[in-house]
Amino acid sequence: MADTRKDLDRYARQMRYGPIGEEGQRKLLASRALVCGCGALGSVLANTLARSGVGHLRIVDRDFLELNNLQRQVLYDEQDVADNLPKVVAAQRKLQRINSQVEVEAVVADVDHANIGRLVDGVDVIVDGTDNFETRYLLNDAAIKFSIPWVYGGCIGAEGQSMTIVPGQTPCFRCLMPEPPPPGVTPTCDTAGIVSPIVNVIASLEAMEALKILTGHVEAVNRDLTIVELWDNRLRQVKLDSLRESAACLTCQGHEFPWLEGKRGSHTAVLCGRNAVQLSFPGHEPLSLESLEEKLGGVGQVSRNRYLLRLAVDGYQMTVFPDGRAIIAGTDDIAEARTLYARYIGS
Ligand SMILES: [Zn+2]
Repeated sequence: MADTRKDLDRYARQMRYGPIGEEGQRKLLASRALVCGCGALGSVLANTLARSGVGHLRIVDRDFLELNNLQRQVLYDEQDVADNLPKVVAAQRKLQRINSQVEVEAVVADVDHANIGRLVDGVDVIVDGTDNFETRYLLNDAAIKFSIPWVYGGCIGAEGQSMTIVPGQTPCFRCLMPEPPPPGVTPTCDTAGIVSPIVNVIASLEAMEALKILTGHVEAVNRDLTIVELWDNRLRQVKLDSLRESAACLTCQGHEFPWLEGKRGSHTAVLCGRNAVQLSFPGHEPLSLESLEEKLGGVGQVSRNRYLLRLAVDGYQMTVFPDGRAIIAGTDDIAEARTLYARYIGS
């Protein structure tokens, strides 16, 4: 923990900024943030918050690294890809080299109703680095239920948006969007692509909001929905003042938390831009990757590290994690992925 003058020196320029000052910096160093998702948005978020001196960062992500991530996921490099590392493991190493004063806790997991309580426990803010609506509704449920501010951010193509949710003060995510869009309706990074500048813009907006909250300046948070379209050079602020009263929101007014209670949302998903399916089993007993490696010895090409096991067979690539979760590449058909899982891993 940074107490001494010397420990504060590295933040000199940030402390010089009036609204933060030394007092704000000390608050940051004593604060805790959850970075949910550590891909494009999440790696900018984690990078910025670690450099700023947020004392404890909990970073969670379900995925491992691939070469096509490097175009926009600024924490990672080619060696991380070659090492087959889960994103948060690579991120943790990098962040500790950036700022050894802050604690970085890396969690390789799919965020679901079974683990969200543990993930948000004790944090002062949640920042959104996810790539899907389901997780955002789950985050929103948890944030409202446990009264934790959270910052939503999302982007696709060259466009992105962000909104800050302060429970009891601002509209919540479900006030803005009462129901998730049906599958296949919204563009994905698979269909629309994504350019890296929008990631940096949206994640920076989110990080600024988190820093306001963590330095004790909730009064300064953005109460509008911000929409940025970089290719067309447009920035819009949409007023949300009336939303909270008019929306009769089931979450923040009705205190219903169906995602948190596991009544909504399935954690089996076709992964954005990957020709891959994730199969997830919340609450699964731990799986021994070592025994699995022995079992699969004659089946296909198997490799393993501490964090994951990979099986290449029949043109598919299956990556299995110790919590039983698997990412199956080579198909975007959930039923086919389930069959492959049952065949090689077992249920
Ligand atoms: Zn609401």
